[in-house]
Amino acid sequence: MQTKLLINGRLVDGEGTCQPVYNPSLGTVLVDIAEASTRQVEAAVLAADKAFEGWAQTPPKDRAQLLLKLADRIEEQAQTLARLESLNCGKPYQAALNDEIPAIADVFRFFAGASRCMSGSAGGEYLPGHTSMIRRDPLGVVASIAPWNYPLMMVAWKLAPALAAGNCVVLKPSEQTPLSALKLAEIIAELFPAGVVNILFGRGPSVGEPLVTHPKVRLVSLTGSVATGARIIGATASSVKRTHMELGGKAPVLIFNDADIDAAVEGIRAFGFYNAGQDCTAACRLYVQEGVYAQFVEKLGIAVASIRHGLQDDPDTELGPLITRDHLERVAGFVERAKAQPHIRVITGGNRVEGPGFFFEPTVLADARQDDEIVQREVFGPVVTITSFTDEAQALAYANDSDYGLASSVWTQDVGRANRLASRLQYGCTWVNTHFMLVSEMPHGGMKHSGYGKDMSMYGLEDYTCVRHVMFKH
Ligand code: NAD
Repeated sequence: MQTKLLINGRLVDGEGTCQPVYNPSLGTVLVDIAEASTRQVEAAVLAADKAFEGWAQTPPKDRAQLLLKLADRIEEQAQTLARLESLNCGKPYQAALNDEIPAIADVFRFFAGASRCMSGSAGGEYLPGHTSMIRRDPLGVVASIAPWNYPLMMVAWKLAPALAAGNCVVLKPSEQTPLSALKLAEIIAELFPAGVVNILFGRGPSVGEPLVTHPKVRLVSLTGSVATGARIIGATASSVKRTHMELGGKAPVLIFNDADIDAAVEGIRAFGFYNAGQDCTAACRLYVQEGVYAQFVEKLGIAVASIRHGLQDDPDTELGPLITRDHLERVAGFVERAKAQPHIRVITGGNRVEGPGFFFEPTVLADARQDDEIVQREVFGPVVTITSFTDEAQALAYANDSDYGLASSVWTQDVGRANRLASRLQYGCTWVNTHFMLVSEMPHGGMKHSGYGKDMSMYGLEDYTCVRHVMFKH
């Protein structure tokens, strides 16, 4: 297992304290890894800063070549990477191999092309005798901080646009799931010039904080919780750093009387429980119109009860464990408090699974009310709530009554209604008659407490650049 950090083109052991990395399916320690020391954080940032001039001046086609090679190498090592990902996250191996790895390679390929298509918005004479042009230039050293739910995918979302735009990166994967990123470090060390990409291991307070507050870091890009986002924004404010925040979510799903109910049930079974619901866009906050409410609750209960949980190598496994024992306790706490409410009905699930791993049953809670904690807060587990609504206005009001603003979906056969709602939902994304689908060409990102900044798409590339004006006197 590759457990070394990548600093200035070399794979080196961490010099900090050792931290255990778990297999959440069995609750056992996979490996102990030494964190980066403060000196190593400093060395990584200085290496990135030193490499910046050369990388920023590297022609886009040459930067693109390396990103394309990286995508090829990811595909060549697909099985190894998927194996590490499923071992470290508990997610089904087949899902890691067949869903995630192709999407990860595609992100690097998209940004390889995008790096050659960067454009300024205007060139012309706006003052007599002068010509102006607009450039988009890289920022310098980017500190990227990633979460544990899709470890390698998040590395791709962070590295690809930053590098395509000509920045150098110091990346810190989650201390809970570093294995695939450290494996990637081995490949990156062979391909990229020293210092362009540096990958550290360690926890937020010991490694993340010294990294994001380093004076040479120009942009901090975080995917993580709202609390961590707020902390990083506070910690970087005095040095006026740019921040790029992809934070939590609590996606509303509006299902109308005229929806294809079977398709909606199938959709929620898939998109509410994928990755054990540990997904910022998970279809978890369901609002169902009165006319189909009883039918929908019954059908969803049956469908969700059929989701099979198990070990990651079992081809029948659909649902893996939660990431840590602490997170299992957190999810179980939310469900226990919800069950204690007399109006909530447990349709299926509702309990942790006995055994050494961190499993929780796929759970459907019906008759939830808008102000219930379980409706308002991000659970980040295999738990969906169902609340009934009378009409479109109430559905919209419920959906927008949330601190979060990442993803939403509307299920209806009425095109007018779908468009009306899509224009009023305060979410970075609205799907119609589906949920969860992402493509490299389209932006992903939030509003409100879900943050700001876009991943993927040309908007993602632009977020890693600065708009500049250059003026020539004739
Ligand atoms: P987290 O906020 O606990 O940790 C995220 C990362 O931040 C980790 O690498 C952690 O070590 C680091 N960190 C923590 N404190 C830090 C500090 N003070 N300074 C610097 N770094 C610090 O989040 P998590 O539990 O790993 O991930 C789950 C959260 O991520 C959920 O809220 C989920 O919704 C969100 N998420 C959002 C998106 C999105 O695209 N918007 C995608 C995936 C996950």
